[in-house]
Amino acid sequence: MEAHGGYTFCGMAALVILGKEHLLNLRSLLRWVTGRQMRFEGGFQGRCNKLVDGCYSFWQAGLLPLLHRALHARGDTSLGMRRWMFDQLALQEYILLCCQCPAGGLLDKPGKSRDFYHTCYCLSGLAIAQHFGSGDLHQEVVLGVPENRLVSAGAKP
Ligand SMILES: [Zn+2]
Repeated sequence: MEAHGGYTFCGMAALVILGKEHLLNLRSLLRWVTGRQMRFEGGFQGRCNKLVDGCYSFWQAGLLPLLHRALHARGDTSLGMRRWMFDQLALQEYILLCCQCPAGGLLDKPGKSRDFYHTCYCLSGLAIAQHFGSGDLHQEVVLGVPENRLVSAGAKP
């Protein structure tokens, strides 16, 4: 019965696929998910009163594009058209400074081991934090040096 980032993303994504996201209290969900980004670390926690974990960079931050789209479709006028509704630079700072293993791969938090799961979801979260929208609305927000920018697999570096 406890709210959880992974289940929440899967539930909302399923409703988006079904075209039923309007069944959710979108404003309440927005308040809950933005409250999961921790001010000190910059990363997201999966549940209330838990530690930040790199994989929630995707499970929680991934909800923001879905919420943005759903609220926009509803005619919400408070939405920005250049940024997601979370601190994109702070999330990049957490991933780039706290989740990188010097030998390659990404991890939950300093002191933990790297693994494929956290590498996948930290990179996915980093992509969300660096890119807003698509097409004419696409905006990039890249923390630090240009080498920090993720390049899509099909693009030439
Ligand atoms: Zn994790």
